[in-house]
Amino acid sequence: MSEHKIGLIIDDDFAFKHIPPYPKPSFISFENPYRIKFILDHLAEWNLIENDKLITLSPRPINDTILELAHSKYHIDSIKRVSNVGGGVIGEEVFVSKDTFLLARKAVGGAIRALECVINNEVSQSFALIRPPGHHAMREAAAGLCIFNNIANAILYIRKYCDFKEKIAIIDIDNHFGDGLARYFYEDPSVLYYSIHEFDFGEGDLGMINEIGIGEGLGTNINIPIPPESTNEDFFECFELMETIIRQYKPELIIIATGFDMYFADPIGNCLFTSKAYYEFAKFILNLSKEICHGNISFILEGGYSLTGLPYCVKAIIKALLNEELFQPEFELNVTSLKRKDINEVQKINEIVKEIIKPFWDI
Ligand SMILES: [Zn+2]
Repeated sequence: MSEHKIGLIIDDDFAFKHIPPYPKPSFISFENPYRIKFILDHLAEWNLIENDKLITLSPRPINDTILELAHSKYHIDSIKRVSNVGGGVIGEEVFVSKDTFLLARKAVGGAIRALECVINNEVSQSFALIRPPGHHAMREAAAGLCIFNNIANAILYIRKYCDFKEKIAIIDIDNHFGDGLARYFYEDPSVLYYSIHEFDFGEGDLGMINEIGIGEGLGTNINIPIPPESTNEDFFECFELMETIIRQYKPELIIIATGFDMYFADPIGNCLFTSKAYYEFAKFILNLSKEICHGNISFILEGGYSLTGLPYCVKAIIKALLNEELFQPEFELNVTSLKRKDINEVQKINEIVKEIIKPFWDI
């Protein structure tokens, strides 16, 4: 590869299919095709799609055998069956429409393409703009707006079909803990799962600081739960420990489970990030990856439901990868003035996590 290129994995179907059922508003109605439509329309308007450093790629077409790398046949067939009868709501947080099965399978193909084009050196970095999201999906079941686990399935694909045996680090910056994703690799030391997520310290949830892996995988599951109303600056406090761990782990590929639901205007998440948070994160992880793994990074879209914010967040990451300046929209300025409680716990949380994982890392 002679020049720096970025692969964008896109497909119009993501902007038109898998429409949530009425009535609105409901939790499930936020995961709708407009998420991708707004992103693609804005990228076109900002002349980013035509940028000669970007290459648009299509999802790899896959058959059900590929899905079976990550999912039971029962789960795959269940989604197919519900799609075939026109759809329905399965559980409280998952809907299926008539075209869900094929779109969810295409999303897996999108994540596969994103990993492939980076490890085959077709591009330097990639960004898969796919939906439905995947990080809550489990081997046996759909969960939390996710049908199939796009990232887990893509990792298992490159392990089997691309002879990629090297270590992989997943950094999950979605507002929610990727409980499905964590489970796939909880005992696997060849995949590091590092999650920063909003945590309800009152109610408790999965994604606690003492979930650190098991057996061979001890120490390679790291959770940084941060409080509601966390800001860009709180996020930046998390970079130091992440950098230490990534430097020691030395992955050959870094996958970002790219959720944008910590964005201040997100209807589901409660944090106060702006597009600058994602810009600075992408710059940070790009520089680190250049030292550790030839800049091999794949961003895979997960959650993020603010139709206003999504295009700006995606743009922020692309701008960072292009090494161009970010101009923030005016409505993002002074967002931290919305903060009701001034809690500075993030550094403390990172320190406690450090103590817990110390036996497994040189820190
Ligand atoms: Zn989320």
